[in-house]
Amino acid sequence: MKKIMMISSVVLLAVGCSNAENEQGSNEATEVNQNNTTSNNTNVNEPQNEEEGVHNEQNDVDEVDNDTAASETNVENEGNEVEMEDQVEEEAETRYSLQTDHTVAPIDDAPAEVVLLTIDDAPDNYGVEMAEVLSELEVPAIFFVNGHFIQSDEGKQELQAIYDLGFEIGNHTMSHPNLRDISDEQVEEEIVQLNNEIEDIIGERPRFFRAPFGANSDKSEEVVEAEGMQSMNWTYGYDFTPEYMETEALGEIMVETELLRNGANLLMHDREFTLEALPAIAEGLREKGYEFVDPKELE
Ligand SMILES: [Zn+2]
Repeated sequence: MKKIMMISSVVLLAVGCSNAENEQGSNEATEVNQNNTTSNNTNVNEPQNEEEGVHNEQNDVDEVDNDTAASETNVENEGNEVEMEDQVEEEAETRYSLQTDHTVAPIDDAPAEVVLLTIDDAPDNYGVEMAEVLSELEVPAIFFVNGHFIQSDEGKQELQAIYDLGFEIGNHTMSHPNLRDISDEQVEEEIVQLNNEIEDIIGERPRFFRAPFGANSDKSEEVVEAEGMQSMNWTYGYDFTPEYMETEALGEIMVETELLRNGANLLMHDREFTLEALPAIAEGLREKGYEFVDPKELE
């Protein structure tokens, strides 16, 4: 019998195990001064609007149909085990679907007690380190990228590094505008150009879009759909609220908030105190019984 060798496209990255340990905790002093010199101006305005998202739409979770992806997987493969295995490898990982309230819901028997981690405004000063720490913690996440962070060679390398660590790369627009304040042509360029640039670097177009400030418009929704992406806001986040812009307070509120629930979509940013709070957040959520959805498992 002929055996067909499948070359798996799944590359297991065991990278970063040593790095994260060495660097964590030792670089506070050096990083502080480097920070705030570049590119933070776009983030300043985010709080008010993004905060709207904290309290929005918490009720209607299960409206979207969850059955499509799971049933598609096993249809065409009778009598051909190799091909089926191949399909399973690519599609069986679809275990969650994104809901209209920005939560994720399990498909079939996937565990419901999960959360999705997302990191916006990357890769700024801490994106790669955040990816290394999350990788060490075995916590998947989506990094929502802005175009202005990937114009330099360094920025491109950082994006590649985050991607190589296994993280999902999302589109957060070229320049972080409020999409409701710019022309249709500009909206299109903000979204499509970033997809092009990201694809040029990592070889893959983003599947997920997050509007700056969570402010989508008819035009942005049209472009997102035309690009074959899904749009998501979030269900809670605190690292843009002054009282939580500090490692310990942030680590605590992200775990203790009453907004924590099954399928919650957690918003964080490329920030130093958020980087430092990641272990407490990951461990705290696990202690509460939550696991982390791999964005690759999203329909
Ligand atoms: Zn943002």
